[in-house]
Amino acid sequence: MKNIIIYILLIFLSHNSFAFQKLFQTDEKAKKFGKTITEKDLKKHLFIYASDEFEGRDTGARGQKMAVNYLVNFYKEIGIKAGNTNGSYVQEMTLDIRRDNVGQVETENVLAIIEGNEKPNEFVILTAHLDHVGKKGDVIYNGADDDGSGTVALLEIAEAFKKAVEKGRGPKRSILFLHVTGEEKGLLGSKYYSENPIYPLENTVVNLNVDMIGRIDPTREKKNREYVYIIGSDHDSQDLHNLSEQTNAETINIELDYRFNDTDDPNRFYYRSDHYNFAKNGIPIIFYFTGTHEDYHQPTDTPDKIEYDLLELRTQLIFYTAWNIANRDKRIIVDPKPEKKSL
Ligand SMILES: [Zn+2]
Repeated sequence: MKNIIIYILLIFLSHNSFAFQKLFQTDEKAKKFGKTITEKDLKKHLFIYASDEFEGRDTGARGQKMAVNYLVNFYKEIGIKAGNTNGSYVQEMTLDIRRDNVGQVETENVLAIIEGNEKPNEFVILTAHLDHVGKKGDVIYNGADDDGSGTVALLEIAEAFKKAVEKGRGPKRSILFLHVTGEEKGLLGSKYYSENPIYPLENTVVNLNVDMIGRIDPTREKKNREYVYIIGSDHDSQDLHNLSEQTNAETINIELDYRFNDTDDPNRFYYRSDHYNFAKNGIPIIFYFTGTHEDYHQPTDTPDKIEYDLLELRTQLIFYTAWNIANRDKRIIVDPKPEKKSL
């Protein structure tokens, strides 16, 4: 008798957990498209994007314009629409660069959009910065990891979503692929976007920012190499954090490492990349990052040093997370803000 009760209980429990899984599970179809994100394609893009020809992509310089052209041509060729409402793939701006007394520079963000088929007025924004630090004399700073890795990740994610659209599986919400300029000069391109948004910030559901995801942090020696640092996922939305964790568990299942997640972490990574310009406007964000290394901001940050198998896994994770945010019935819930206590 006891055994029968246990048996019935087990059936009941497994049934219940099955129902729970069904309700939230990552769509199996997503995996078909996620698998189109490959080491080979990422490598192909990055060896061009971080080549000497692009001269380190300094904001406003010739190399940065070449980077912009590369991105715009990519989106045009695969048939993803221009992201600016004026029909352009760029958002032009004049930046006043204080660092090194550069002064006024004409530059641009690149944007492309896949419109949602159910909630086109809700936006998931993916960002990576298109610029790097340029060259000093004849020495080129290629910026393969920073942020060539995030840039090519966005391209591959865009392509995977486009393939889904072609198979009638386009996202419910709109996805904006936003390559921001002037990051190395003080997050200026993302600041410009947040002050001059093409789509209302209040309709921006989430920002997933990708900056340096191609290497292995040397301080992690002998630890699991299949990891990514997650920063900010639980700062403004427990819902986003849970979605991120569950998506990972159901798909590529790498280690999500939160060592830099605290807002008061001494490295202050939370404040140091473009997601911050969204976060400060109350938009939930996740910053994907895999750590600094000896080639950080050195001429030796070259594409031959990228761990392409890991770049593939990390890019797939971001794709699945974006997929689940864009396709879920409910918009990501922003946590209520605690009342600020006066001192
Ligand atoms: Zn960067």
